[in-house]
Amino acid sequence: MQLKVLTEYEKAHLSDRQPLPDRYVGLADAEMDARIARARATLGRRLVILGHHYQRDEVIKYADYTGDSYKLSQQVSAHPDAEFIIFCGVHFMAESADVLSAPHQQVILPDLAAGCSMSDMAEPGQLEICWRELEQMGVLGATDAATGTRAVVPVTYINSAAAIKAFCGERGGIVCTSSNAAATLTWAWQRGEKILFLPDQNLGRNTAYAMGIPLERMVVWDPNDVDGGLTADAVQAARLILWKGHCSVHTRFTVRQIENLRAQHPGIRIIVHPEVPWDVAQAADESGSTEFIIGRVTASPPGSIWGVGTEIHLVNRLAEQVHPDRIVHSLDQFGCLCSTMFRVSPNHLLWILEGLVAGEVHNRIIVPDAQKHWTKVALDRMLTVR
Ligand code: SF4
Repeated sequence: MQLKVLTEYEKAHLSDRQPLPDRYVGLADAEMDARIARARATLGRRLVILGHHYQRDEVIKYADYTGDSYKLSQQVSAHPDAEFIIFCGVHFMAESADVLSAPHQQVILPDLAAGCSMSDMAEPGQLEICWRELEQMGVLGATDAATGTRAVVPVTYINSAAAIKAFCGERGGIVCTSSNAAATLTWAWQRGEKILFLPDQNLGRNTAYAMGIPLERMVVWDPNDVDGGLTADAVQAARLILWKGHCSVHTRFTVRQIENLRAQHPGIRIIVHPEVPWDVAQAADESGSTEFIIGRVTASPPGSIWGVGTEIHLVNRLAEQVHPDRIVHSLDQFGCLCSTMFRVSPNHLLWILEGLVAGEVHNRIIVPDAQKHWTKVALDRMLTVR
């Protein structure tokens, strides 16, 4: 028998996980619809349901608001009346919502097993070691007292644990999303000579390259190697230090897939999420966040043909529901599915809602107080940068 290797996320969080009770398994869709509607009506304005674009249709149809991480983060403070915020997404999103929420609000992730493999690729202990090694290399230097300029500004993608965000916030850094990544890099380079960007090397590389930073001025820091596997000279010469992390969904897209689609559909426009590898972003016509992708397809004339490189639930929704008069193909004919997003089911949502009606809160996400302040500082900076 093969033993399953637990991720850091699973080790940290699954001991708190309350599994779905058996009585919520195997319910008919019509029954779930009726019971969810009843529970929502009972809870009224005490409740808001947020749904990330990568959620499956059976869940997203219940969301009061849909969006990417950035847009959903904004919804938290826009709903001070909501006592319960149900976040249909993954763990790091619910953590950010908890940090941005008011003390009287409770954030719930319907299934605590909904983590993110990219987020798991940057652990707080590894970042502490990285920072210490950068200091030993003589890269960190001292903050300029007159200008406040630092040698290295840490920037973390929102797809990271609260502890990583707190680390960045405490050291003059910031959180970014795929919607504001370029503006965030500009913000950080105004405050420091170099940026340490984590955990997604592809978002960092694609964004910086589009801003005119050559690949030769970027290095990849391997957290599993001494000194990141780099020499001090290489780090000194870099403007961008990229953490060796990636999204296991978006790195499945290839240049070959783009070539095949272009051969099959003359006139097709290829649009990808910036978590794809650099060569794929270069082969595409456009690159941007999920909101950007939706906006571009929406603005295109009927009959337009698109090849889209992002998670399959959003691609299918664009094709079938949002714009049936545009032709939308996934770059990957088998579809790239985020298996952790998929863990949230309507059955979990029903269980959570009926629990709230009965006065029981399951699967609440609470960021420890020790991390809250600096995580909020980093997230608040993110919300000011567009
Ligand atoms: S699509 Fe990638 S980055 Fe987004 S939640 Fe899934 S694994 Fe994480």
